[in-house]
Amino acid sequence: MRIQFWGTRGSIAKPGPSTARYGGNTSCIELRSARGTLVVIDCGTGGHSLAQKLITDDAKPLRGNILISHTHWDHIQGIPFFLPFFVCGNEWDIYGPKGVRESLREVLAGQMQYNYFPVTLDQCGAKIRYHDLVEGAFAIDDIKLSARYLNHPALTLGYRLQVDGATVVYACDHEPHARMLALGDATVAGQDLRHAEFIEGADLLIHDAQYTAEEYPEKVGWGHSPAEYVVKLAQYARVKRVALTHHDPLRDDDAMERLIAGVRQHSSPVDVFAAFEGQVVEVACPGRVASRCEELQAETPVEPARAPRAVLLGVADTRASGAVSVALRAESICTQAFLNIDDGLTAIAKDRPSLAIVDHDPPRTDGIALCHAIRRQAWDEHGLAVVLVAEQQNEDAGVSAGVSDWLIKPFTAAHARTTIRKWLLRTASKSIKGAIPADQEQRLPPLRVRHTAKSIGFDRSLQRVLQKRADQRDPAISSDKSALLWMYGREIASFDTPTFSKKLGEIIARATSTP
Ligand SMILES: [Zn+2]
Ligand SMILES: [Zn+2]
Repeated sequence: MRIQFWGTRGSIAKPGPSTARYGGNTSCIELRSARGTLVVIDCGTGGHSLAQKLITDDAKPLRGNILISHTHWDHIQGIPFFLPFFVCGNEWDIYGPKGVRESLREVLAGQMQYNYFPVTLDQCGAKIRYHDLVEGAFAIDDIKLSARYLNHPALTLGYRLQVDGATVVYACDHEPHARMLALGDATVAGQDLRHAEFIEGADLLIHDAQYTAEEYPEKVGWGHSPAEYVVKLAQYARVKRVALTHHDPLRDDDAMERLIAGVRQHSSPVDVFAAFEGQVVEVACPGRVASRCEELQAETPVEPARAPRAVLLGVADTRASGAVSVALRAESICTQAFLNIDDGLTAIAKDRPSLAIVDHDPPRTDGIALCHAIRRQAWDEHGLAVVLVAEQQNEDAGVSAGVSDWLIKPFTAAHARTTIRKWLLRTASKSIKGAIPADQEQRLPPLRVRHTAKSIGFDRSLQRVLQKRADQRDPAISSDKSALLWMYGREIASFDTPTFSKKLGEIIARATSTP
């Protein structure tokens, strides 16, 4: 297949002499299979030049597809200027993440409302079909695709494309879930392991690399990856080539050269390059393409609960509970908040919410133990989405306890909102029976979980910077409410002991026996 980069800049277009070599336009990639299937991946400002080329060079009428990772401006600003949309007879299919309430079409139409643009989406002459996707598999002509949520403060899908015997993965915008993993000092586990599996064995990985490891401590939670982490994860996941992209608007061409020269010193055997505007890459890998594990069809019309409910359990930190509350209100989710663990577990057992957001701040509250206790209950057969709010991620313990996800402090309301959306949609997807087709193809062997402290320890001094920042954080958690909860915890028993687990079991058994 043939790939051409039309936009490689992240966040905002940055044209000018200082970015002439790597390009100033935002995300846009053209992919064509040997049979001629056209897929455009993201349509930032780079989409404008691509559109002009399509109008000039391609046979008419034009038939194409666009994959949208998410609807932040730098990934969709080319759409109002995408000339093939305005030509009668052309046919386009646009794929992107399904929202909880609004459709992909409604969100894209938003940037073309009267106040922002003089032409509406309705006035496009071409026939445009919209495809709202959840995580799962789908196909575009001869291309097999798989979509998976990334970690970004907007609901974002990464795409894995297989055609002509080769695999390309596009993962923009994405930040490692475990923050210490970004600096090479954590286990690849949980959602980070799922991400590694998603990129595994790719012939070409096109990945967000907006920052360097040195810059990352100042950019935690912004939803982007350090280049060094991307290269190390690619080595871990046996990727063959990596195109670093979504370049920071503040990084000029000389700084780009220094970045790529630096990461190449430790990238073997992975071939790493920084994508530049106009670059063409041929991806060929004759042979059988290994499939992913069984997946839901990504176009399944998944509907989250009409009136989703959430339980907020033990979150006493005012900043964290404030951000979560703003996010829950924005999603119109009916929420019950409990500082009393007993009451909270009773509510979970009785009301079966769509989501539980649970504090993890031992010894005051032990979210890991609470999650263990929830998973032992008979009513949890479908796996309640349990998101832990914590200062630091303990992924190993989280995986064994069945923790679904983490919100690591400090986090924004946007990040919390994305996490909530992701799990509402995943929960709704899980409830759809029989949607997963039998897959007869060759499977990739499972990735072996390794402790990356040994294999990805690229700069310990940076890890110390991050730790120092965490240590200096405003100790706002010592609120009255948290003190009360701590006292409550002491009253039950010491945490993380057999007595504590037994007591929790009793509480839940009592709660579940309540009619
Ligand atoms: Zn972006
Ligand atoms: Zn973004």
